[in-house]
Amino acid sequence: MKAAASARLILTRLHEVMASRLHAQAKLDQVVEIIGESLTSEVCSIYLLREGALELFATRGLNPDAVHVTRLGLGEGLIGTIAKNIETLNLAEAKAHPEFLYHPETGEEKFHSFAGVPIVYRERAVGALSVQHVEPRRYEDVEIEALQTTAMILSELIAHKELVDLEHPLDLAELPSGPEMIDGLALVKGLSEGVAVFHQPRVEIDQVVAEDTEAERQRVYRAFDKMRDQIDAMGKEPEFGKGGEHDDVLETYKMFAYDEGWSRRINEAIDSGLTAEAAIERVQQRTRMRMREIDDPLLADRMHDLEDLSNRLLRIVSGQLGTAARQGLRRDSILVARNLGPAELLEYDRRRLKGVVLEEGSLTAHMVIVARAMDIPVLGRAKGVLRRVNEGDEVLLDADKGCITLRPSPPMREAFDARFAKKRERQAAYAELRDVEPFTRCGTRINVMMNAGLRDDMSSLAMTGADGVGLFRTEFQFLVSSTLPQRDRQTRLYRDVLDAAGDKPVIFRTIDIGGDKAVPYIDASMGEREENPAMGWRALRLSLERGGLLKAQARSLLEAASGRTLNVMFPMVSEPWEFDAAKEVFDEQLAWLKDRRKRLPEEIRYGAMLEVPALAEVLDLMLPKLSFLSVGTNDLTQFLFAADRANPKLAERYDWMSPSILRFLQRIAKGVVGHPVDLSVCGEMGGRRLEALALLGIGYRRLSITPASVGPIKELVRKIDLDELSGVMQGWLASPPPDMRVALQDWAAEREIETD
Ligand code: PEP
Ligand code: MG
Repeated sequence: MKAAASARLILTRLHEVMASRLHAQAKLDQVVEIIGESLTSEVCSIYLLREGALELFATRGLNPDAVHVTRLGLGEGLIGTIAKNIETLNLAEAKAHPEFLYHPETGEEKFHSFAGVPIVYRERAVGALSVQHVEPRRYEDVEIEALQTTAMILSELIAHKELVDLEHPLDLAELPSGPEMIDGLALVKGLSEGVAVFHQPRVEIDQVVAEDTEAERQRVYRAFDKMRDQIDAMGKEPEFGKGGEHDDVLETYKMFAYDEGWSRRINEAIDSGLTAEAAIERVQQRTRMRMREIDDPLLADRMHDLEDLSNRLLRIVSGQLGTAARQGLRRDSILVARNLGPAELLEYDRRRLKGVVLEEGSLTAHMVIVARAMDIPVLGRAKGVLRRVNEGDEVLLDADKGCITLRPSPPMREAFDARFAKKRERQAAYAELRDVEPFTRCGTRINVMMNAGLRDDMSSLAMTGADGVGLFRTEFQFLVSSTLPQRDRQTRLYRDVLDAAGDKPVIFRTIDIGGDKAVPYIDASMGEREENPAMGWRALRLSLERGGLLKAQARSLLEAASGRTLNVMFPMVSEPWEFDAAKEVFDEQLAWLKDRRKRLPEEIRYGAMLEVPALAEVLDLMLPKLSFLSVGTNDLTQFLFAADRANPKLAERYDWMSPSILRFLQRIAKGVVGHPVDLSVCGEMGGRRLEALALLGIGYRRLSITPASVGPIKELVRKIDLDELSGVMQGWLASPPPDMRVALQDWAAEREIETD
């Protein structure tokens, strides 16, 4: 309460200044005094954006002569970094920060601690507010919050044009213009184009300081009630009625909507004197800040769901209700958002929604999973997109390459259109291959299967004409769920998947949880931070230790496959005994079902993934146990090269076309010859045309790949003469050319086989 009371005092004083008839410069001068005094900080400064640079507009504690003299570019020094990244800095020792820049004219050399927050207007940083202190200390949370609240007030002054009488006009009206490219992370691949539409026409917060705190509290209560009703109603909507991942999303929403911690924090912000809107925004800002600090992608996803709800609450309380979905898309549109919830995505008209660009986003976000099922390209982590794009701008989205072009020039558009046309042509040709069996020119049938992980993915089986599901990643159900999926829920999913597959086989891989695929409700590392999670306590290691998990999964799979064939595959098998131990769990569950005269699967086939190199050395001991063996090249290559597959810096460091990998893979293929074991590759490597060519050339006849690659790989298969290809690959592996990739590309080009 003490913190709230002091925050309230600051607000009241700031409010008085704002309401006063002082001219703009005098207002700013007073603001820095009030903040400096309240936080007992020797220095408080305001920088505002003018003519492309952050200019010192007011200060208490720095040399007054530096006002309107000190200027920093975006990204320059601590202030520039705050504005560029829209981030808060809280440093006990400013000089220790890599971006620290000393400005002699300010006289700031004697100050050690530093805290600064961005002043944000319409998602763009238009300035920064900072405090400095002689003693090295980190500022407390309440102090940072006071700064953030003050920054909100300053942006309110800006919104109300109360700073326009400044002698030096600010850069506020300037809209981004001219072509611009922004790189991002391809979350769902694809190409598309349209006009930029902001998912949320921004909620303008007109008033930050409350006049009647109790009235604000009531407004928030009512808004919470309304939001909870909306969420309960969502459960009755058709897309949420199907079970599976949508249920999980809804569960997460409910968890937050009824979370007392969240409503309490908003109430505390109201206690400090803010209006309902400003309080919701404040708490949201703080959550965003925390999110940046937490390096846990899964937790970050849950936080995105919270942000989704927070926006909803803000819209309800302010009465500014419409998202772009409600207003309806009038043209082909590329949706731009900080983040998007899955439910919000589903509100859009599928025919007009051509793509999504997010400031944030991650591969495991619920929304991405839904977008993939809807076949909508998504680019994530497009830094600064909300500031750099204007509503209505033309956008070319290239989620294959991982970038967007804003306001393209005619040559840019032409190049994009050409790429797009070529892609469409190819896709049409691939679609025609749907019912065509992939035989090579020499008459060998190649098995082209697809990878899947969710119920929604199964529609791709019919669409692509894949031969089956060569890898069903069962952990996906765990990843999209906020609680441990219980046995009946698992059984339902596996049964639905088998129903959807019909006569085609499905290989269920038991959970590969742990490492980067962490779930909050299973503490894989048992409280210990793992230095190398990819080589850590994951997959089968975890399943064997947590017997209950594997037991439940075994029973679910056995029950779901009653009367049918069940294919079970164990991930990350390093030694044969691990396979035996896992199979024993299935045997026990089978015996249990038999005792109870339950209907059993007609046939059970067991297989292993080969992704730990050690297993290759004991292949002779392993093979008699197996019906199939699937090489997981994603993990295998990271272990062979000691190169973290999740580290983008290392992505270029090794090549699937390197002789070491191909020789290794060839050795496995040769080792399997003569054994009744189906050998396949189920890593990403098999979905790339050149790599697939190499795999076929070294003896692989089964590939399980991402659905979008099924058509392209089928087409490739039909152009190949295996005898000729294996001949050339044998020669190259015995005596490698300088660059295997280039050599095979040239070989393919001579035969008019496209490899990219
Ligand atoms: C692999 O490692 O190649 C694989 C298919 O498994 P995942 O990508 O799920 O680890
Ligand atoms: Mg793997």
